[in-house]
Amino acid sequence: MKKKTTGTKQKSFTSSTYNPEEHNYNDEDFYDEDFSNDFADEQKTFNQKNLEENSLQDNLEKMDESVRPRRLSEFVGQGELRKNLQVYLDATKKRGKAMDHLLFYGNPGLGKTTLAHIIASELGVNIVSTSGPALMRGGDLASILSNLQPNDVFFIDEIHRMPMQVEEVLYPAMEDFKLDLVIGQGPAAKTIKIDLEPFTLVGATTRLGLLSAPLRDRFGIISRLEFYTPDELSQVVLRAGKILNVSINKQAALEIGKRSRGTPRIANRLLRRVRDFASVYGEGHIDEEQAKNALSRLDVDELGLDEMDRKILTILIEHYDGGPVGLKTLAVACSEEMRTIEEIYEPYLIQCGLIKRTPQGRVVTARAYKHMGLLG
Ligand code: ADP
Repeated sequence: MKKKTTGTKQKSFTSSTYNPEEHNYNDEDFYDEDFSNDFADEQKTFNQKNLEENSLQDNLEKMDESVRPRRLSEFVGQGELRKNLQVYLDATKKRGKAMDHLLFYGNPGLGKTTLAHIIASELGVNIVSTSGPALMRGGDLASILSNLQPNDVFFIDEIHRMPMQVEEVLYPAMEDFKLDLVIGQGPAAKTIKIDLEPFTLVGATTRLGLLSAPLRDRFGIISRLEFYTPDELSQVVLRAGKILNVSINKQAALEIGKRSRGTPRIANRLLRRVRDFASVYGEGHIDEEQAKNALSRLDVDELGLDEMDRKILTILIEHYDGGPVGLKTLAVACSEEMRTIEEIYEPYLIQCGLIKRTPQGRVVTARAYKHMGLLG
């Protein structure tokens, strides 16, 4: 699959199969209950579903592409990170060498991929993209690395899902820009070293704790992406509105921003849906009232919670007296995958102060009762 953008050349390598047995999960948080036994089974269902959703994902990716910021100056929010990144970029340009390897972590849709692309375009180099599960064998990685041009950006999304044997090939490449290739088998096997062009690895993960310590330690820069404020998200919406030719006023953009779960990808998605309502029920221009009406038709409440968020809270409150409830039980009760609950829904519910994670399980807070209309 090849994507095109202005300025920088992009390539991506994908594969749809993923073997969970090849992974070494070592995050203690991750095993906060009987999670590990069920993870492999669930991973298979998750992958199957991923395959089925591939075309939907492709469409979403295309939509993301059209509004993705290309330069650091267009990237909204993440003030501290952006300032530091500007320094690293300036220093790299002065040195004329490859930038230090960077690792971005944070929830899906916060801008990790966007930053990898921005780094490449700011440095005027190519970006080659792949993802952890797509790199099934060391050879997959070796062939990508040996085709890189000097100082290229190599982006690995979901880097925590990279198999161990691939990770081991990556270590010398990251450290000395060398590949250790084993030729032949048994006593006759020989290791040969191949020199690589210097490159910058940009890794992205939603689960920093799942990265092995040796891999994590090889990144010179590790940065966390935070949730965005409603005001920042309103800027994201206004910017996307201009690109997509959608007429929207500031109040309406702020209303979408408030209900986007702190996430630019969701803000952009809501903008598109609100635009559909405005074109059918109005003149096409989006004002505050139209935004509010459309968002309530979309079942997105004032905090940005959707149907599944509210289902999680309702189940915790009504079935389990507010908790504590283990993740596995909660997932079964919600008919949702543990991973989806843990990675997509929980972080925002925790961020809003609606649930807490305790060693015994998930517990709702007084704020959740109030939000659900169960307290005065
Ligand atoms: P991640 O890789 O963290 O899942 P992406 O980088 O793919 O997230 O971002 C998803 C979409 O959200 C992008 O296509 C882009 O349009 C938008 N986006 C993300 N961060 C920003 C930002 N800081 N400013 C403007 N738009 C953003």
